Amino acid sequence: MALREIRKYDDPALYKVCRPVEKFDEKLAQLLDDMAETMYDANGVGLAAPQVGVLRRVVVIDVGEGIIELINPKIVRTAGLQSGSEGCLSFPGEYGIVDRPEEVEVEAQDRRGNTFRKTGRELLARAFCHEIDHLDGRVFKSLASRMLDEDEL
Ligand code: ZN
Repeated sequence: MALREIRKYDDPALYKVCRPVEKFDEKLAQLLDDMAETMYDANGVGLAAPQVGVLRRVVVIDVGEGIIELINPKIVRTAGLQSGSEGCLSFPGEYGIVDRPEEVEVEAQDRRGNTFRKTGRELLARAFCHEIDHLDGRVFKSLASRMLDEDEL
């Protein structure tokens, strides 16, 4: 495993639509392992492949319940609404208020290519939305109703 450089701010990789993963091979496994290590090293709860410069539809998330790996994820169901502060490893120190569904069900593939579904609530639902947005070149700042001032952090 190896740490990868997290792309930040105006890096073009953060604003591109990523391509689906087609090969479930050793290279994908290496990418997933590196992304997890990079996320934990940065004390994040989620990381998307474009954040390490790889324009493929790959996400890792850990909101404190263990690692979740999502390949080619799609949101298949949402319910409710939550409004709260959100940040991003690509914009260190910046937080904004973003509305998200309270509950989100995703369909994705695992590292072997098997399809599965997982439902997340609260922080996990927010992480699903935030990371899948990254795969379409969308960053949370473009969705924030307002950014927080320093004295609100
Ligand atoms: Zn992010």
